[in-house]
Amino acid sequence: MKDYGSEAQCEEALVAARWSHGFECPHCSHKLAYEFRRRELRYWQCKACRHQVSLRAGTMMENSKLPLTTWYLAIYLMTQSKTNIAALAMMRQLGITWKAAWLMKHKLMEAMRQREENQPLQGSVRVDDAYLGGERTGGKAGRGSENKVAEEPCGRDCRI
Ligand SMILES: [Zn+2]
Repeated sequence: MKDYGSEAQCEEALVAARWSHGFECPHCSHKLAYEFRRRELRYWQCKACRHQVSLRAGTMMENSKLPLTTWYLAIYLMTQSKTNIAALAMMRQLGITWKAAWLMKHKLMEAMRQREENQPLQGSVRVDDAYLGGERTGGKAGRGSENKVAEEPCGRDCRI
């Protein structure tokens, strides 16, 4: 919250993430632009081709009316959760509708998938145990459930 608690802080973080070496026109790659605001949104107009681009254009936040602070908090929740965070939990923690939380979650998961796609795991990789099943009702919950089958880790380093 100290670093991403205000809309202005999140705007600066997004500018830095998009154009870490300064603005670059997505249309003609020109580096100089006029900056302005329209309806609270930050825009750049290329000085060469006059192409206008908003801060959110071309990002997963492009068609969202949610504040950037909500997006950054969602990114934090998604990336800090050891287990998969449910859209219902995101809805409660972010104070947004379930539909908005579900959409946001899937956009973030897709962005994470795209980022990881070209970075396969390398070297020594350790895998935690996992339990499959649990669809039948009754019995104990969690690891000890007779409805689940343990997917045993191999117990040694696995080379990928
Ligand atoms: Zn341009």
